[in-house]
Amino acid sequence: MEEYKYYIAGEFKTGDEKINVVNPATEEIFARLSQTSEKDLQAAVTGAKQAAKLWKKTSFKERAAALREIAKCIYDNLNTLATLETREIGKPFKESLFVDIQLGADCFKYYASFLESIQEESLPGEYGIDLIKYEPFGVCGVYLPYNVPLMIFGFTGAAALAAGNSLIIKPSEFASLSLLELVKHLDRLDLPKGLINVVTGRGETIGKALAESPVDLISFTGSRQTLKKIIAATVDNPKKIICELGGCNIAAVFADCDKEAAMQNILGSSFMKQGQMCIGTSLALVDEKIYPEFSRELVRKAGAIKIGDPFAPENGLGPIATKKHRDDIDNKVSELIKTGAVILCGGKPLAGKGYFYPATVIELKNICYEEFFAPVVLLKSFNGRREAEEIIENNPTGLVCQIWTKDLPYAQRLAGEISYGTVWVNSFVQMSSLTPFGGVRASGWGRNLGREGFFEYIQSKHIGIGLLPSPVTGWFGA
Ligand code: NAD
Repeated sequence: MEEYKYYIAGEFKTGDEKINVVNPATEEIFARLSQTSEKDLQAAVTGAKQAAKLWKKTSFKERAAALREIAKCIYDNLNTLATLETREIGKPFKESLFVDIQLGADCFKYYASFLESIQEESLPGEYGIDLIKYEPFGVCGVYLPYNVPLMIFGFTGAAALAAGNSLIIKPSEFASLSLLELVKHLDRLDLPKGLINVVTGRGETIGKALAESPVDLISFTGSRQTLKKIIAATVDNPKKIICELGGCNIAAVFADCDKEAAMQNILGSSFMKQGQMCIGTSLALVDEKIYPEFSRELVRKAGAIKIGDPFAPENGLGPIATKKHRDDIDNKVSELIKTGAVILCGGKPLAGKGYFYPATVIELKNICYEEFFAPVVLLKSFNGRREAEEIIENNPTGLVCQIWTKDLPYAQRLAGEISYGTVWVNSFVQMSSLTPFGGVRASGWGRNLGREGFFEYIQSKHIGIGLLPSPVTGWFGA
């Protein structure tokens, strides 16, 4: 059984306490990783601080070359990395291989090109020259969620490194292997020791200790409950926190839309990765004029999705990543049923080995803004545009919203008015390393990707060089 080591200041290490890695499709333990000790975390902070001093001095051209090398390492090992993500988390192999990890690698390529396209500014001022320098923060503590570890490593780590920071990465204890495998290859690159560190183990111990440590910035992707704990852990050592949370994403289906396109995208957005996707649809609002036919067809299609071994190409659904999460889904569905909601398909864990939960469609009586992070989509009919708009606007979260209609002037107006980080009109997952991504309200703050993502990791510095007497010269006449 392979034992994975964590990576501190250029050294691979193991700790005394081990964590078993379970394949959620078979319930077999197939690997082990270590809980990083506090002493090793301190060594990571020291190493990362030293590396940050060196890395900050590199030119944009040097950083771009390094980012391209990292992207190449990911592509060269794509198959192994994708295999590990699927074995550890259970999402279908085709998603790990063709979507998630490649999106992460693309971020390194994008920020390499971005660095070659920008320059720090110098402005002729009234009294001299004003230089605007793009300074990094120093050491970034980067928290990864369990569903798409290498994708989020790309979303966050590429911009942070491009900006001149070093990294201490805390992957989820349920999804550490692909990153630990990748750093074995990154170790062979000519990067400063300590530029990239990986600390592994449980969130409540090593994750908390990282938040308490003197890192200079935290980039957090995960749940709102954990964010609160991280904020509490940073009070004595306050620092900028970029946070990307989830939310109840809404897809609004108006009667005049292309129904087959809306259906396909609601299926994809609700059930890919077993619904463990921050951009997944939680709540599908469907115009009552088309509701009976639309819900019937959605249920038929959802019920036909094959579930089983995530490596078998015919399976659209693999297992849920952990037993605990599968049991939580079951409990949450039971609670919802007590409010009068009706299960139209699925709604019960599958018996037998593996943490399987089928594609589930639930018809709501009362509105519910719940992120199940599961293959569960909530369906609600609406009567007229006004009701749909109210439901969309009252959402306490605001990550993504889909609008399905052929009335483009209306869609454009609505997209402009509602408060979400991303609005897709007749589209889903139309995003790339160039387009900013992040939430509003309870879905977090800060942006990943695009030029906005880069500037999250920059503290601009102004240097004013006086060439003429300054404005206060002679103020007191003395
Ligand atoms: P999580 O909050 O449980 O864990 C995220 C990270 O925080 C992990 O590395 C974990 O080990 C660590 N952690 C856990 N407890 C901690 C503590 N007490 N102190 C410090 N660190 C701690 O989230 P998850 O279950 O891994 O991910 C699912 C959530 O992430 C969902 O809500 C989903 O919507 C969100 N998500 C958001 C995005 C986005 O870009 N907006 C992307 C993916 C996932």
